[in-house]
Amino acid sequence: MSNNNLQIKDKVAQEKRHWIRLTRVCNNNCLFCLDKENQNGKIIPVGEVMKKLEQGRREKASRAILSGGEPTLHPQIIKIIKEAKKLGYSHTQLISNGRLLASEKFVKKLKEAGLDEITLSLHSHRKKDFEATTGIKGSYLQAMQGLVNALKHNFIVSVDIVINKINYKTLKNTLIFFTKLGVTEFDLLQVTPFGGAWLNKEKVFYSASKASKYLNEAFELSKNKDLFIWTNRLPAIHLEGYENLIQQPIKLKDEIKERRREFENYLAADIPLPCFGKRCRYCFIAGFCQDLTALKKFKILKSKSGPFCLATNNGLNQKKKIWQFQKKLNWDNFLNFYIKNRYFVKSLRCKKCRYDNRCDGAWIQDIREKGFKILRPVKKQNATKTKIIWLK
Ligand code: SF4
Ligand code: SF4
Repeated sequence: MSNNNLQIKDKVAQEKRHWIRLTRVCNNNCLFCLDKENQNGKIIPVGEVMKKLEQGRREKASRAILSGGEPTLHPQIIKIIKEAKKLGYSHTQLISNGRLLASEKFVKKLKEAGLDEITLSLHSHRKKDFEATTGIKGSYLQAMQGLVNALKHNFIVSVDIVINKINYKTLKNTLIFFTKLGVTEFDLLQVTPFGGAWLNKEKVFYSASKASKYLNEAFELSKNKDLFIWTNRLPAIHLEGYENLIQQPIKLKDEIKERRREFENYLAADIPLPCFGKRCRYCFIAGFCQDLTALKKFKILKSKSGPFCLATNNGLNQKKKIWQFQKKLNWDNFLNFYIKNRYFVKSLRCKKCRYDNRCDGAWIQDIREKGFKILRPVKKQNATKTKIIWLK
């Protein structure tokens, strides 16, 4: 993928989106479903959906993302799409498992209603792996027919794939399979320690370090300029050589938004996050949570320094940026501070570096743009001869 593609992706990532839940029910039973804890079999009343759509427009969102549960199970989905268009959303997007799209008649109605984009969650091109994931016999053929119908009716079609223990070895072939059908946009999501994934952790968790050979084969396809491949929650450390796949840092705001109330309870009333504990080592926002804990304890956070291996005379006296603790946090400002000053990443090669224990690594945006290759681990036996002067 070119730098030009990186700029396009950054622009898309910053588009104001509004997510609207249509149902709390799904006709699949995916092993790693993030929504499992929120499902109760209910359909969200149209009036409630409309209020959410209106709220999104008041907040100047231009893209409405209809999700669930499974949103195609909402009996009034066609009406909802039409209303979204009437309210002025320039782009309407459906997130679906694709099974009900096996009916071409239904797909035509979605098109006529004004739907622009369909994102299908299709976690493998192999029937056995697909149905081991969804837990539903027959789901593979329905979803594949759904994909074919969506492409036939000229929707913008993207495919979400949750990388997990069942599919990582065949990820490259899965991408090639869908590409041959006409898909050009993919989102590769890292499995996270929440919802069904945590309950089924033995079945779905895998080691991204050990899987690197397979993952890199798949990431290599991103060099095809006709393909748009995104990653989601995949730690940057596993993307060496493919740094333009590192998720846009601003997306962290969406992750935090989901848990904002829990973070606020922690800061104001000392109530620990319900997920705190064993899950943290698998969690994409662990660095942010550690910073919040440090902020609460020490009442101050300072900007991180640049990598030891890039130290020069220029930045010897660089002034640190400081964030002071407030019980009522301005989240947007704090996240801007975090992303600009604390969102740093390291290479797997750093483990061999003399400074690994003391060095914070490099700012994520520098790595996205210049690659991990700028880091130069210092051999342990030579390190004592190297004079460290901060760049930042
Ligand atoms: S790192 Fe934070 S959000 Fe993630 S599991 Fe731990 S406490 Fe929860
Ligand atoms: S190689 Fe890694 S650990 Fe070593 S100085 Fe550079 S960023 Fe720090």
